Amino acid sequence: MTKACKLAAGNWKMNGLRADLAEARALASGLASPSCGVLLCPPATLISAMAESLAGSVVMVGGQDCAAQASGAHTGDISAQMLADSGARHVILGHSERRADHGESSELVAAKAQAAHDAGLVAIICLGETEAERDAGQTLDVVLGQLAASLPQGAVAANTVIAYEPVWAIGTGRTPTLAQIAEVHDALRAKLPDAAISLLYGGSVKPGNAAEIFAIANVDGALVGGASLKAADFGAIIAALDAA
Ligand code: PEP
Repeated sequence: MTKACKLAAGNWKMNGLRADLAEARALASGLASPSCGVLLCPPATLISAMAESLAGSVVMVGGQDCAAQASGAHTGDISAQMLADSGARHVILGHSERRADHGESSELVAAKAQAAHDAGLVAIICLGETEAERDAGQTLDVVLGQLAASLPQGAVAANTVIAYEPVWAIGTGRTPTLAQIAEVHDALRAKLPDAAISLLYGGSVKPGNAAEIFAIANVDGALVGGASLKAADFGAIIAALDAA
């Protein structure tokens, strides 16, 4: 069986101006030749400049969302092809903040992932339970249900990454226990259409907890929010993944 690739992906969310590209350059210049993939997903306004700034480095650039449609009358939206044209190679889809703030359903996420694949992008599809769902014992049902409904036809390791991100762990400093992360990742791996699809954990990953999370069997890397904004913090997380 082909092993999943390791990936450290940074999600800058709605943070970052041109001056902050210095952090991305500092990250790239501090990396030797990591065995894992390294990705930064800045706001759309910075994709092109970041891709130019990091050309020739190991750090890849991605988007944080794309439209389900290829083009047309969709004011304010950005197509997957536009992201690719700007230098993106990946796109985060179905992040819990988009599911909550923009009412995105898993069916819409699947349509966006299909559009990403059609444009040659790797779709990073996010899944995760709310705290109320975990407390009600519904975590596996929720996450596996999101997986089934969010994956487009033809999802394979070359075009898809899954990120398990408990909603209650994002930006809160709280994380599930290692056993809880292992339980969800084992269940996800068993349901993947291609066992080599990388499974990332996301939710308050920091330099101090990265190594123990990356030691979990079915964790292939992380989707990192706050700690990806600073080269020193994200660099330490990448080093932990490299060593795992
Ligand atoms: C995220 O935005 O996907 C995330 C996991 O954020 P944080 O690392 O800040 O919890």
